[in-house]
Amino acid sequence: MKIQFIGATHEVTGSCTLLEVGGRQYLVDCGMEQGVDVFENVPLPVAPGNIEAVFLTHAHIDHSGMLPKLYKDGFQGPIYATLETANLCSIMLKDSAHIQMSESEWRTRKAERAGEPAVEPVYDLEDALGAISLFRPCGYGEPLRVAEGIVVRFTDIGHLLGSACIELWLTEGEQTRKIVFSGDVGNLNQPIINDPQKVEETDYLVIESTYGNRLHEAPGDVVTELAACLQRTFDRGGSVIIPSFAVGRTQEMLYAIREIKQKGLVHGHQGFPVYVDSPLAVEATGIFLQCDLSCLDQQTTELVRLGINPLWFDGLCLSVTPEDSKLINENHRPKVILSASGMCEAGRIRHHLKHNLWRQECMILFVGYQAENSLGRRLQDGAKTVRLFGEDIAVHAEIASLHGTSGHADQDGLIGWLQGFKEKPKTVYVNHGDDDACKAFQQLLTQMGYHAEAPYSGTEYDLLTDRMTVYTESKPISREQISQGTARARAVYADLLAAAEELLALVKTRKGRTNKENAKFASQIRSLIEKWRD
Ligand SMILES: [Zn+2]
Repeated sequence: MKIQFIGATHEVTGSCTLLEVGGRQYLVDCGMEQGVDVFENVPLPVAPGNIEAVFLTHAHIDHSGMLPKLYKDGFQGPIYATLETANLCSIMLKDSAHIQMSESEWRTRKAERAGEPAVEPVYDLEDALGAISLFRPCGYGEPLRVAEGIVVRFTDIGHLLGSACIELWLTEGEQTRKIVFSGDVGNLNQPIINDPQKVEETDYLVIESTYGNRLHEAPGDVVTELAACLQRTFDRGGSVIIPSFAVGRTQEMLYAIREIKQKGLVHGHQGFPVYVDSPLAVEATGIFLQCDLSCLDQQTTELVRLGINPLWFDGLCLSVTPEDSKLINENHRPKVILSASGMCEAGRIRHHLKHNLWRQECMILFVGYQAENSLGRRLQDGAKTVRLFGEDIAVHAEIASLHGTSGHADQDGLIGWLQGFKEKPKTVYVNHGDDDACKAFQQLLTQMGYHAEAPYSGTEYDLLTDRMTVYTESKPISREQISQGTARARAVYADLLAAAEELLALVKTRKGRTNKENAKFASQIRSLIEKWRD
């Protein structure tokens, strides 16, 4: 009976852990690595076709995003998750497949220009549909015997609709051990969904540490702050543009706007329109509206019982087609535009920024974390101009941020949840946190008298003897690889500069040629410039 850590070790993405029980292999989460990769992960030490089943904590792509790849590589077993997680995955994995496909098309075009072979997508739509067909939806709180020696129970962890911590009872012969995977632990008092439910006993615990070394700012009153933002922007004739993650944050914003409208907290702009401009967000909103009442917090359940749709109000426009999207900016009537992506790195939000950033009466309102180097972070940091679709756009709009909107528990929240266990687990494994956060949280737990480990990818423990069986050190992505990459990049760039100089030299020999010829040459150069501008 063993546990081996594969992904999200000293990192926040790519969650994946391997369990071996009675000679059979199981995965908990199968996520995609996103953003900057710091440490190398060991490859899965088992062929996907030999994995019996996957247990999935929640639908976020950093936990679920490699399921289609697992399917493509031969996995055929069931994927156990809550019904809401299965429903959200059915739209998010398809969306992810589209992203993989368009990225490989883009890379293929580039490769072809360099005389290199086409680039295959990590997975395609068929793989995503294959993975979706393997889901076995489960309810919260019901222990389920899924195989010889394995019982699973999903408990609401209040991070995203359908999110769960996973309790597993593993039996080999006469011996049973319990292990709990926290998944991502939710923040207290989030709108729509429940607070994290506590678990009372376990032998082993795997806990996330995203905010293991930090405390959130005291949460503001989102409804009051948002109403004030809308009021002052509308009063000066502008619109409020909200870059928002399609699943979760967009629905929280709709929930807040419904309350603002119902209580009349914005004056003088009766019936102001609100556009949700993201196909994924529109689909996800549908799943939120159809979910089981047990997934909703008391306040939201109350609204549903009164016959009030918690995410619907007059003036809500769900825009889906690209044509609908273009129409939104046709007039300058004050409005709210919610669009993805949340960090402004891709998607339709970039069009809305292009149309509104230069208008000083408008506001760009950030409602989620902006990673370093993202366009969202540059705007928050006070960029004066940004480049969008090959144009320099002046930033005149007001840039604002709403506080208290994190979906993750902070250090106090994690400790509070951990203290729900009546007795300390034999070992607490800390994962899913950046290196600093993960180590700091492990140290804090050690000071508090826990036996805490922070394993790197590849480390394995025997759960019957509570001993480490394979030790791996951190493997930072090699500097040599990076510097080789840099040397190559420098050489290629030098070649590009040389080509530009050849072009200029050629232009200089053209003096005295016919006007017609030179005008044609100039126009060809300009179209080349246009083609390469991004
Ligand atoms: Zn998550």
